[in-house]
Amino acid sequence: MTEPPELYDGDDNNAHIKFQQWRQRHQDGYFLNYKGPSNTMLHRVLCWHLRDPADLDRGEDWSSLTRRKKVCSTDLGELKKWARKKGIKNLKQCQDCI
Ligand SMILES: [Zn+2]
Repeated sequence: MTEPPELYDGDDNNAHIKFQQWRQRHQDGYFLNYKGPSNTMLHRVLCWHLRDPADLDRGEDWSSLTRRKKVCSTDLGELKKWARKKGIKNLKQCQDCI
């Protein structure tokens, strides 16, 4: 079993670029926006809340998409499993893309 990749600026300076590249390759995938055990939201990869996946420019710090941890998978079940393991009880779903 493969763990869904976790991308976070605190762990990896290239997290933003990797996240954007993952989105380009998996446009039918999903990701979690992890802000903490009580505040994590599920989105589709192409949610309009985010920048275009072709935009790899990290730019200023404020424009990084991985200031908050992102967890990526094409398998919704994997992400739900990840959330359960982290103790996330009420996984929110984006009203705009799910
Ligand atoms: Zn969304």
